[in-house]
Amino acid sequence: MARHEGSCHCGGVTFEVDAELEGLATCNCSMCGRSGAIMVFVPDTALTRTKGEELLTDYQFGKKHIHHAFCSVCGSRPYAWGKGEDGSAWAMVNVRCLNDLDVHTLEITKRYDGRSL
Ligand SMILES: [Zn+2]
Repeated sequence: MARHEGSCHCGGVTFEVDAELEGLATCNCSMCGRSGAIMVFVPDTALTRTKGEELLTDYQFGKKHIHHAFCSVCGSRPYAWGKGEDGSAWAMVNVRCLNDLDVHTLEITKRYDGRSL
């Protein structure tokens, strides 16, 4: 499993995630459609919040199952988190916030229909 480092734009929020960059998804919900996030879903234990959690402003809408946090300084959305229907904790990492990554090299293979939820 590859480990990737990432951050928000201002560098106040940093993280590491253990994930293969496959099964990348975009979502058409009212939030993701606006923010343009490209996501990889991982168990919450695969995400290490290394710095700046206190800078995150939480944002929830709809059924409020997901924490769509963003950096209160620069507005980036490095990751979100929530609980699955089975109660398991998971995280949604915005791979656009990984360091040293050219987003044009990414293959998006999933289209998540969040609009229908
Ligand atoms: Zn920031």
